[in-house]
Amino acid sequence: MEYDVVIGLEVHAELKTNTKCFCACVNSAGQEPNTNCCPVCVGLPGALPVLNKKAVEQTIRAGLALGFNINRTAVFERKNYFYPDLAKAYQISQLVKPICVRGYLQVGNKKLPINRIHLEEDAGKLVHSNDGSTLVDYNRGGVPLIELVTEALEEPHIESADEAIAFLEKLRQVYIYAGVADCIIEKGQMRADVNVSLKPKGSKTYGTKVEMKNIMGFKSVHRAIEYEIARQKDILDDGGVIEQETRKWDDDKGMSFTLRTKENSEDYRYFPDPDLLAVNISEAEIENIRKTMPPLPDQLKAKYMGEFGLSEYDADVLLQFKNVSDFFNECVAEYNQPKTVCNWITTEIMARIKTETGAGPILISKQNLVWLMKNVDNKKINRLNAKDVLSAVWGTEKSAEQEAKARNLIIDIDTNALDEIVNKVVLNNAGVVAQFKAEQDPKILNFLVGQVMKETRGKANAGDVMAKIKELTK
Ligand code: ADP
Ligand code: ZN
Ligand code: MG
Repeated sequence: MEYDVVIGLEVHAELKTNTKCFCACVNSAGQEPNTNCCPVCVGLPGALPVLNKKAVEQTIRAGLALGFNINRTAVFERKNYFYPDLAKAYQISQLVKPICVRGYLQVGNKKLPINRIHLEEDAGKLVHSNDGSTLVDYNRGGVPLIELVTEALEEPHIESADEAIAFLEKLRQVYIYAGVADCIIEKGQMRADVNVSLKPKGSKTYGTKVEMKNIMGFKSVHRAIEYEIARQKDILDDGGVIEQETRKWDDDKGMSFTLRTKENSEDYRYFPDPDLLAVNISEAEIENIRKTMPPLPDQLKAKYMGEFGLSEYDADVLLQFKNVSDFFNECVAEYNQPKTVCNWITTEIMARIKTETGAGPILISKQNLVWLMKNVDNKKINRLNAKDVLSAVWGTEKSAEQEAKARNLIIDIDTNALDEIVNKVVLNNAGVVAQFKAEQDPKILNFLVGQVMKETRGKANAGDVMAKIKELTK
C-alpha cells in the first residue's frame, strides 16, 4: 500500500548565556567533570532556584526570530521523573504556559507551523566506560535549554527524512544568526527527537506515532527516520497495528529498539514549581529584543539577491556559515563590489576554512582582502600573484600591500618599457608569431603572453599584454 508520512520534531538547543538557568554556575562546557555545579543545579534539599533573566530573553529572541507570539505570563512546572543524571528527580520545564506559542519556519516552499518553544533546564550527562560502569557528570545539569515542538497534525507538515533535515538545518541557521544558541552538533548543543506515523495515502485520519529519542547528529536523524518509515510500512502491509511507543536509535546497529510504551504527559505529574513565580513579560521588553535582533538568514538572502544581484546559489553559500556572511558584509561595506567580493570569498576563503563538519576561522583581515581585490580590479597586481599574496598573509599579521611590495609584484612597468619587452618577444619568436598570424590559435597567443609576463616577472597586466601582441601581429 501507499502511505503518507507524517513527522513531528522536538528540538532541544542549549542557550547562549553566561550562567545556568536557575543558579550562578557558568554556562560553559568542557570543564573537569562535576566541578561546575552547586547545590541548586544538583538539586540538594532546600536549595532554591533563581530564574536567569538572560535565559528568558534568549527564549523570547528565538521565538521572535520564528514569528512566535510571546505569552505575557509564563509559568515553570516540575516534570517529575527519576534518572541518574537528574539527581533532584524532576526537571524544571514548562507545560501549560510556555514562553513562545505558535510560530513557523519557512523551509523551501513550505511554511511549517511550530506549536511552541519552552524554556527548561538540561540534565547531567552519563558517561559509560569500557569496564561496564557508568559515571555521572552534573556539569551540564541546569544549563538553559529551549525545546521547540513542530505541529505535525496540520498542513503543511514535514513528510520525509530530507524535509526533516532541511528543517533542522534551517532552524540551526536561524538560532545561530539570532545569537540565541551556537548549536554545535558534535557537542550535543542541538538534539532532536523524532515522531513518525504513516497513514494510507490521502487519508484524513492520522496514524499512531512512534517517537525516537537519543539521536546524535543530523545524518543519524535521517537514517532513523528512514528506518522507522520502513519498519511501520512492513507492519501495516502485513495487516498489523502500530503501537504507540518510544524507541531508542542505535546508530552503530542502524536499528531502533523499544524503550517504553504508552507514555503520556500525565505520567510526568507536571505541577507548577512552587519555588518559582510566574514570569511577567512586558511589551517593552519584547520590543527591546525585537529591536536588537540581528539580521536573519532570509532577510540577508533577500538583500544579497535583490540589492547585490547575487545568484541564489552564491547567497546560500555565503549564508551557510555566519562568520562567512559577516565577513562578506564587512568587506562589501569597505569595497562596494558585492559580486567581486562574493567570488573571492566563495572560492579563495571557503577553500581555506571549510572542514568536514563546518567552517574554521577566517585568518585574513578585511583590510588585506579588500586591498587585494581592489588592486586586482585596478590592474595593479595580477590575479595569480594576488592569490599568492593571500596565501602568504593568511594566518599572519602581515599586510598584503607590504607583502606584494616585498615580493616586487606591484604592476608599475610603464608603457614604454612594456612596449619594448613586447617588441623583443615578438622579434625573438618570429616563427611562433608567423604561425599565430596564420592560425590565430589562442594557445599560441597565450604562449606569447606568457613569454612577456616572464620577462616582466609578472609585473604587467596580462590583458594589456594580450592587446599589444594582437596589435603587433595584425
Ligand atoms: P507527546 O505528548 O507524546 O510528547 P506531543 O503532542 O507533545 O506528544 O507531540 C510530540 C510531537 O509529535 C509533536 O511534534 C507533534 O506534532 C508530533 N505528533 C503528534 N501526533 C503525531 C502523529 N500522529 N504523527 C506524527 N507526529 C505526531
Ligand atoms: Zn549551579
Ligand atoms: Mg512532548
